[in-house]
Amino acid sequence: MAEKKAAAKAAEEKATKAVEEIKEAAPAVEAPKEEAPKADAPKEEAPKAVKKPAAKKTTAKKAAAKTTKAAKEEDSEKKEEAPKAAKKTATRKTTAKKAAKADPEKAPAKKTTKKAAAKKEEAPAAEEKVAAANPVAEKIKAGAGPAIEEVKAEAPVEEIKAEAPAEEIKAEAPAEEIKAEAPAVEEAPEAAPLPEPRRSIAFIGSECYPFVKTGGLGDVMYALPRALVAQNCDVKVILPRYKCIPQKYQEKMVYRGAFHMDLCADGRTYYVGIMEYVWDGVVYDFIDNEEFFSVGKPYTNLIDDIPKYCYFGKAALAALNYMDWIPDVIHCHDWQAGLVPVYLRTMFDNTPIARAKVMITIHNLKFQGIYNIPTIKYWSGLPDYVFNKDALKQGYDDANMFKGGLAYSNVITTVSGTYAQEIQTPFYGENLDAHLRYHSGKLHGIVNGIDYGMWDPSTDKLLAAPYDVTDVIEKKKKNKLAMQESLGLEQDENKFVIGLISRLTDQKGLDLVNAIVPQLMDGNTQVVVLGTGDAFYEDSFRYYENAYKGSFCAYIAYDESLAHGIYAGSDAFFVPSRFEPCGLTQLIAMHYGTVPIVRETGGLKDTVEPFNQYTGEGNGFTFDRYESGLLLDATNRAKTIYFEYREAWDEIVKRNMNKDVSWEVSAKQYRQLYVEMTQ
Ligand code: ADP
Repeated sequence: MAEKKAAAKAAEEKATKAVEEIKEAAPAVEAPKEEAPKADAPKEEAPKAVKKPAAKKTTAKKAAAKTTKAAKEEDSEKKEEAPKAAKKTATRKTTAKKAAKADPEKAPAKKTTKKAAAKKEEAPAAEEKVAAANPVAEKIKAGAGPAIEEVKAEAPVEEIKAEAPAEEIKAEAPAEEIKAEAPAVEEAPEAAPLPEPRRSIAFIGSECYPFVKTGGLGDVMYALPRALVAQNCDVKVILPRYKCIPQKYQEKMVYRGAFHMDLCADGRTYYVGIMEYVWDGVVYDFIDNEEFFSVGKPYTNLIDDIPKYCYFGKAALAALNYMDWIPDVIHCHDWQAGLVPVYLRTMFDNTPIARAKVMITIHNLKFQGIYNIPTIKYWSGLPDYVFNKDALKQGYDDANMFKGGLAYSNVITTVSGTYAQEIQTPFYGENLDAHLRYHSGKLHGIVNGIDYGMWDPSTDKLLAAPYDVTDVIEKKKKNKLAMQESLGLEQDENKFVIGLISRLTDQKGLDLVNAIVPQLMDGNTQVVVLGTGDAFYEDSFRYYENAYKGSFCAYIAYDESLAHGIYAGSDAFFVPSRFEPCGLTQLIAMHYGTVPIVRETGGLKDTVEPFNQYTGEGNGFTFDRYESGLLLDATNRAKTIYFEYREAWDEIVKRNMNKDVSWEVSAKQYRQLYVEMTQ
């Protein structure tokens, strides 16, 4: 045991070193917490004071009107310049592709980032000018009480612009400038011309690899914007500036501006800083506020997370107004961005950002941001009328942030076609099935992809023996032996090794795995589990590791580097989920020539075609009902092919490696929706 851990540690150190060389190392992560039980009473106390300079009083209403006009003119000018911008992007495309695997430090933005950093010293001057960014919707004023009015009177959004006009802000660290200064690409790209028309998209979400990731959402927020850049989209990703973001990224962020914004019903103003980082054609704007983003990695519990994401949703929209960057589409992700569409169509109704259309994507419907109405009303400052049963209200006295976001969005997407259907049924609908059936006309399913820059077995420096489809069969054995050695398993290339990399929660079908482990352990089979989560699963897998020494490994941790080795070193891969909106692990497994064994639900059903022994077609082994016996049966079918018909097995391996699981097709579908909703 001790030997095994020591070996594992050594391998981990080696792997960590390697990952530093090839790409950004894994950020601090933590499995998402289950939603905390509701508190009995709303959190009434006023929050701690923000130790930031107070907003400067302004009265420049005329100037505000003037600036808005100027901004509009500038906007139409920008539109005329669009074809030019498209050309620029075409040149950048090749750089982006190349740089996809490179360290962000070597990315084109570096030069400009440095320059902008120099300008950072001028930041305090701008900060002096900051003011509250709350929109001036009259109806909100009417219902919000005198304290709010006072804050609004102090500095409505137009006034910020009057004080710090768009041009001036851009001069500090403009995204456009940064892009323009990116080094030119020498070789002419032979790629097809970019699709027209160009669209600008603001992603708003709570996590994004490599800054902060707890699961698939972090992968999507990283990979989809990059894939959209290649589809002629101009993408800005708005994220919280969590304290848990590794220092090396914090250091690269450039101050972009700041203002104060009102939020709660008590009229207090909150600091909103904007820190920017440009990387591979994607602009990342981090909303800075230590009061909200210091705790958690990044989530804690709903008592903290509800105020955090009320603030974040409103601050993200205010920041877009402040930066005078009005995208064609605001693309919100999961419940943490659920209030964005609601704010957009209420409190920001009379502000420039209201011109944008809004899309919301359901990555996982299980988490919705539900709390009692008084608490969410207090923290969001939203008007009473949104707390009705068609929008935020749920049950008798709860408010549901995701539900509100779904109601107020122009388009809803989720991450697979099957999940889009499933969530309209009571079993998968998490109490929102009726709401989703009502909105089914605007609901679409688009399956996720994986980032080939991040996941490529032929260049993966974390593997003992990188491989492609031509030598996968031989090289996989080497990777298997290396993995077995590093994890303390019996080294034998003939063993059938099943990998499992997952958050250890009920969603992932781990009770089915638990139930069949004794039957799996037949002397020819090994199982490797990598994951963290519920204590029950962690303990049961540890128990099995002890009970089946040398054949079962429970590596209870979150470890990006080790994950690569397991995807490559395993023969088969378990994803027997109870529900699975899309699932990325089966896609990564297939791309690494590892055959998935999955339950036919959500994205698993859409991405894994069951192997047909008569035609020889298919990518994996599947079962439908949620029963451990059926998982065992699917596994036994896989083993039969592996041990008895190795040629057929090898064909599946190669077919999986040739399967297109990239983001390209999905990014085109998203682009198509963006264009349709903005025509
Ligand atoms: P979910 O978002 O529900 O957690 P997905 O399959 O969509 O599931 O995405 C999971 C992502 O997190 C994959 O990139 C997977 O490799 C990664 N992952 C999950 N658990 C771990 C772990 N313990 N160590 C490393 N990576 C993990």
